[in-house]
Amino acid sequence: MQLPQKLLADLKKINGFDEQSFIEAHQQVAVTSVRLHPIKKSSVVTDNEQVPWCGYGRYLDKRPVFTLDPLYHAGAYYVQEASSMFLQCVLEQVLPARENLRVLDLCAAPGGKSTLIASLLDKSSLLISNEVIRTRASILEENMTRWGYMNTLVTSNDPKEFSKLGAYFDVVVVDAPCSGSGLFRKDAHALNEWSEANVQLCCQRQQRILADIWPAIKEDGLLIYATCSYSPQEDEAILDWLANEFDVETMQLNVPTEWGIVHVVTEKEKINGYRFFPDRVKGEGFFIAALRKREVTSAIRYPKYRTVKDEQIKNKAGYLLTENAIRYVQSGAENYSAIHELHEADLHLVREHLYLRKTGLSLGVPMAKEWVPSHEAAMSVDLAHTVQRVAVDKEQALKFLKKEEMHLPPMEKGWNIVTYEGLGLGWIKNLGNRVNNYLPKHWRIRMEITDADWK
Ligand code: SAM
Repeated sequence: MQLPQKLLADLKKINGFDEQSFIEAHQQVAVTSVRLHPIKKSSVVTDNEQVPWCGYGRYLDKRPVFTLDPLYHAGAYYVQEASSMFLQCVLEQVLPARENLRVLDLCAAPGGKSTLIASLLDKSSLLISNEVIRTRASILEENMTRWGYMNTLVTSNDPKEFSKLGAYFDVVVVDAPCSGSGLFRKDAHALNEWSEANVQLCCQRQQRILADIWPAIKEDGLLIYATCSYSPQEDEAILDWLANEFDVETMQLNVPTEWGIVHVVTEKEKINGYRFFPDRVKGEGFFIAALRKREVTSAIRYPKYRTVKDEQIKNKAGYLLTENAIRYVQSGAENYSAIHELHEADLHLVREHLYLRKTGLSLGVPMAKEWVPSHEAAMSVDLAHTVQRVAVDKEQALKFLKKEEMHLPPMEKGWNIVTYEGLGLGWIKNLGNRVNNYLPKHWRIRMEITDADWK
């Protein structure tokens, strides 16, 4: 791999850079890692080497075809680059508590950071995962569905629109679009696209995004800024710019030296940041910093609303969930969703100002004689244990996911969740003489499966 000379020249100026070993690390293949779901427990790779800074992170020896693993589809794990899992360590150290927080993941697709944040928060907290690019927002929605947490919303808005909420968020994560040098080993496209001009463009865009989102952070709230670029223009210079523009307090983390993460302090404003070099850590390039907002902000003005009368929906769909403290809200022409009752005012506020793609947990659609359950309900961590299910082996699970004919064991009539290793994959309806597969079409596995893959 031929690394850009201009990038190497820029990196010579930064702490912890060793040109020779950095170049050598780029002759190695990228590290593969996954982050386990904390609730959807399965047999998957739990014994593998743990990522040092993330209790749920596991390294894999090689990259399997994840599409052929039903546990991947069930949300038992998320395929995530190891260095970026350091967000867990940051949150564990900087969050005042896990309860009653309002958290925004501003640049969220495909959902690596959002699924990690959702795993850490208490259910009284609310996570808004936002992705401005509509096509990428669909992938984010899918991954958040797979992860199965009710206390999450997915929006698709430009960063500047969040200021309409007022100074609302306790935590904002900006995993900014960047020049991507940290991903050269994973993504040849990032290497081919890299240019000095693009670093400059990214740096301007990062400033714009941060300036736009700043008013949406509460007094004493936290901003977590991250990139997968090594360029100091997109990392240290952005931190200095932030500290120069706004009133911020830098946050220093407790990071064991043996982890190999390089602690940097910016030249001008003395802001702490943490950089990951692939020759020093088992992971790809990454940069992250946490800052506290030290500016007085006003209280939020929630819109007036009447608590929804949801008894009818509760009677029909309530059987799906274990959780009781729920509001059943309309979230589409016919669709209803569940949100935690603590988040009703938040939903009204967000609905007034933002474009909502996913509202809590979609439960499905009421019909004359029955409730048609949504795919999201089958993926939920709050799914009631009393819901009918049918357990299948890997071959039948893959057939279900390909929407092909299946050989199923005897089961109850009506709606059943297909489970693999105890985890839900989706719904089927047993009509007695035949079984209908309700996996949404766009979730279907499209790749060819050979005989060896079925087992
Ligand atoms: N946080 C994600 C994760 O962990 O899976 C990765 C985010 S990626 C580094 C940056 C995201 O920012 C992309 O999804 C991209 O579409 C989005 N983005 C691009 N331009 C943007 C802009 N002007 N404002 C906000 N987000 C933008």
